[in-house]
Amino acid sequence: MLLDTPIERHIRTTKSHIDKLHELGVNTVRDFLLFFPRTYEDKREFRKIVEIRTDDINNVKGVVSNIFHKKTKFNKFITKCTFSDETGKVEVVWFNQPYLKRILRNGQKLILSGKAKFQYGKVSLVSPAYEEIKDNLVHTGGIIPTYHQTDGISSKWIREKLAPVIDEWVLLLEDYMPKFILDKYGLIDYRDAVKEVHFPSSEEMMKKAQERLSFDELFLIQLRALQKKWKWQHEYNDNPKVIEFSDDVKEFINGLPFVLTNAQKRAVSEILYDLKQSFPMSRLVQGDVGSGKTVVAGIAIFATIKAGYQTALMAPTEILAKQHYKTLFKLFSGYGFNIQFIAGSTSKSVKDDVLNQLKTGTVDLVIGTHSLIQDGVEFKKLGLAVIDEQHRFGVKQREVLRQNGNPHLLNLSATPIPRTLAMTIYGDQDLSVIDELPSGRVEIITKIVPEKKRRDAYYWVEDKVKKGEQAFVICPLVDESDVLEVKSAIQEYEFLQNEIFPDLKVGLLHGKMKAKEKEEVMHKFKNNEINVLVSTSVIEVGIDVPNATVMLIEGADRFGLSQLHQFRGRVGRGDKQSYCFLFSKNFSENSLKRLKAMTMFSSGFKLAEIDLKLRGPGEIFGVKQSGIPDLKMASLTDSKTIALAREAAQIVINEDPLLNKYEGLSRKVNG
Ligand code: ADP
Ligand code: MG
Repeated sequence: MLLDTPIERHIRTTKSHIDKLHELGVNTVRDFLLFFPRTYEDKREFRKIVEIRTDDINNVKGVVSNIFHKKTKFNKFITKCTFSDETGKVEVVWFNQPYLKRILRNGQKLILSGKAKFQYGKVSLVSPAYEEIKDNLVHTGGIIPTYHQTDGISSKWIREKLAPVIDEWVLLLEDYMPKFILDKYGLIDYRDAVKEVHFPSSEEMMKKAQERLSFDELFLIQLRALQKKWKWQHEYNDNPKVIEFSDDVKEFINGLPFVLTNAQKRAVSEILYDLKQSFPMSRLVQGDVGSGKTVVAGIAIFATIKAGYQTALMAPTEILAKQHYKTLFKLFSGYGFNIQFIAGSTSKSVKDDVLNQLKTGTVDLVIGTHSLIQDGVEFKKLGLAVIDEQHRFGVKQREVLRQNGNPHLLNLSATPIPRTLAMTIYGDQDLSVIDELPSGRVEIITKIVPEKKRRDAYYWVEDKVKKGEQAFVICPLVDESDVLEVKSAIQEYEFLQNEIFPDLKVGLLHGKMKAKEKEEVMHKFKNNEINVLVSTSVIEVGIDVPNATVMLIEGADRFGLSQLHQFRGRVGRGDKQSYCFLFSKNFSENSLKRLKAMTMFSSGFKLAEIDLKLRGPGEIFGVKQSGIPDLKMASLTDSKTIALAREAAQIVINEDPLLNKYEGLSRKVNG
């Protein structure tokens, strides 16, 4: 099979070029074919030499004369020539391209394409791309692709290697897309798309090729996700748990101490609908901090217990799990449910007892951390698993749950992201969005603080602390270096404790501390034994300290808006007015725009959308977040194509979930 053979067997080149290709991830013939250009330069329009414009790309046809090569005293190699047409002459200069000695000849007819500069009193074309005039132009005179460049591999080199083989090679590719999808969405053939993307025959074909390849990328992501969902819901579904919406549930909702927001009502009805089905739910509830996800999950738990099943709720840390335990214990008081808690700190005897009760079926609701999905944990009849902040859990989670009888699965996330992005990253789940806060919340006041007002901000914090309130200080993000980040946090902590707040109790929290130490610090902060908590960006999602009213963020421009919004969500949880202060040393237009957005909007969904536009998807969660696909052609901001690809994938899955009819597609999805 030629497509999967090493590229070095099929192109003639040097070992060093092959090494560079490998660095770019190009190992096989297929990889090389699918190494798509990043952008294109339009080189279709030719200018006469008199029309050459400086500081612009010029495409000119002409004749070479006065070739001249020289080595400078700094060991640089310079090539010069005169280039002329019927309208005039221009000087051409190339730097460090000694092989031009072999290529350029006086009297040769060339097309040159490059930037013109005015220097030393005259206009020169500087290091232009060149090509002999033939029928079939590869480097000039058309729409010319530019590839991701690495040292030693130029776009020109790639085009030179691909041009002679592209026609033959693309025939080896198969178009795996079902014909009816191509027709329905007006997509061109895969092989044509791959050829046209490298060597566009027209602007229209270039667009068609990009469209097809972007569609494919997104479609395959959706297909994988929807197939995963289908398998979760249907593959081992021998024990369906149909949970009806009973009067008990209605009464429970009516008995809540508050009226649900419309967004909560919508999420609840989506969940209750899922629970009634004869296959397990796979749903993600996204909602800002404080939007009331817990009670929504609580209603699902209530309905499931009432139907005679066990339920489990997992949180990423012990503090959060404990918080949920307290909340739900209160929420369900008076119903006589058996509610248990297990986490790392639970003693062996208690744990053994709980595990035993899970197995015999006497526990109705168990709340805890990862300990809940470890080996040896067995439920008698688990009906629903709720997972708070799912991205902290490993991939094993579904498998363990599946072994426990394929319960309904409900994930909660406090990281609001635009729907199209959520659809792409969490495509294996249905989505409920709580985009509304309960009324009566006091809005957090957010301000960008200029450096000269820094002292004032500190006085202000001190004043709040003297009134019994508490503050967070988030340290700047240090790219790629946890060690430096920790170091700067320690410095900040010492500075604040010694120089600024000698009379206050300052605490420190960072990622290099042991889990136990972290919990201890958080515990002290919760009990107001720490007034000001200095933290790196590791600070736990969802932690509830209603007494904290000030959030001070250093180097705010370095964070994604969603992350800033997450930080801000640490305050404003009680009934006191809360504040968020943003410090930044970067006042570029873009950075200012982003920080201003923080002062203007309080919705995480809105901010995520703005950030997706301004900085791209990689930043939505912050640097350390994974799970965002590395797209070669498509864009996660292309909501139109995402929606179409989703629709198409759903059609295919509805028709043939295991892709038995579509072998090529199945290979592509599983390969
Ligand atoms: P989340 O987990 O989404 O951040 P929580 O579930 O912790 O938010 O809810 C935050 C607070 O709001 C809790 O004290 C909860 O009791 C309260 N709450 C939830 N829903 C409502 C509502 N509809 N009206 C008033 N308060 C609510
Ligand atoms: Mg929560």
